[in-house]
Amino acid sequence: MEALIDTVLLKVASRCNINCTYCYVYHMGDDNWSRQGKFMSGETIEATARELKKVADLQGKPFSIVLHGGEPFLLGAERLKFLLSTLRNVLSPEFPISIQTNGVLITPELLDICSSYRASVAVSIDGPKEIHDQWRIGHTGSGTFDEVVKGYQILKAHPDHLFLNAGLLAVVDPFSDPAEVYYFFKSLGAPSVDFLYKDGNHDRLPFGKRSLFSTEYGNWMVRLLQVYLADHEPLPIRVLDDMLKVLLGGIVSKEGLGITDFGILIVDTDGTLTKNDTLKSAFNGADQFSQSVNIKNGDLSTFLYSEDFEEYRRMQRPSVAQCLKCPYLDLCGGGMILHRWKNETGFNNTSVYCADQMLLIDEMKAALAKIYGNVA
Ligand code: SF4
Repeated sequence: MEALIDTVLLKVASRCNINCTYCYVYHMGDDNWSRQGKFMSGETIEATARELKKVADLQGKPFSIVLHGGEPFLLGAERLKFLLSTLRNVLSPEFPISIQTNGVLITPELLDICSSYRASVAVSIDGPKEIHDQWRIGHTGSGTFDEVVKGYQILKAHPDHLFLNAGLLAVVDPFSDPAEVYYFFKSLGAPSVDFLYKDGNHDRLPFGKRSLFSTEYGNWMVRLLQVYLADHEPLPIRVLDDMLKVLLGGIVSKEGLGITDFGILIVDTDGTLTKNDTLKSAFNGADQFSQSVNIKNGDLSTFLYSEDFEEYRRMQRPSVAQCLKCPYLDLCGGGMILHRWKNETGFNNTSVYCADQMLLIDEMKAALAKIYGNVA
């Protein structure tokens, strides 16, 4: 049976201790977070565990769980312990649990709890201090770099760091130097790094992108790829590795990449099921299903077979003719849904990063051709 879901993202805390300027949760016009309780309640956590267990039994394949926010470590030790123990009571370590954190609140005590319940920790950091501190600031406006690096050092020093340290996540600043960013991450001793493009769409171009046809992000990624391939002891870059794997004929199940269906479901802090919350960057409420369903109602597996969820799955596949006949489709997949948004035509568009993706894919193919001869 095909997997119903690949990833479940739990919004365990609705507030954040920092205030990144580009955050889609707090700075894109959607104020749903302010109507949520600060933390997922015990009742919602128990209902979530119970429903996920039913889905696990039904689909017979593991899925990943990501604790997200806001900032998940705002939960503190007691709530985190309750949450992880409740999930682990029903889901074996075959079901990866990870925590996506801004790193500021990491303590040895919280890491001990993560270690006990086999939950790994990925830290968001955008590069060296002068780059990171432009974007990832605190509520008083000052940069968070020093606190994040301090938190990351605590993670690296934990006796169980080989399991706990799930690497870094960075948002691309197209005006930064990719080589400087790459070697900075390498100097931090991270096991891997992943990169995301900044949010944006056809009506609101991403930061630094002059037009639909300009390739600031593509240029940046191409330079990163060159630095990466020239490094004899490379720091794994997940997005590039995944793309190279697909080009070499492999299958990668990842949102916004390739044509393999990817099932992602979000459980909001109050238990409401939503689409990927990055869709909030398109318009207020874009992440809501047509019928409001709460996980506490006890019918998650039925919902995953509903027309509402099927329509959400369909929405992830590109629909515009330009993508459907595109020679890059197998790898690009039409990009992330949020990047396709345009007021006039909804999500029925190419990605706002279309030109960037084509440039990067061409460069990848050329690099692989040097090693293996031509690839498809
Ligand atoms: S977004 Fe662009 S590169 Fe990607 S599949 Fe569509 S047309 Fe091709």
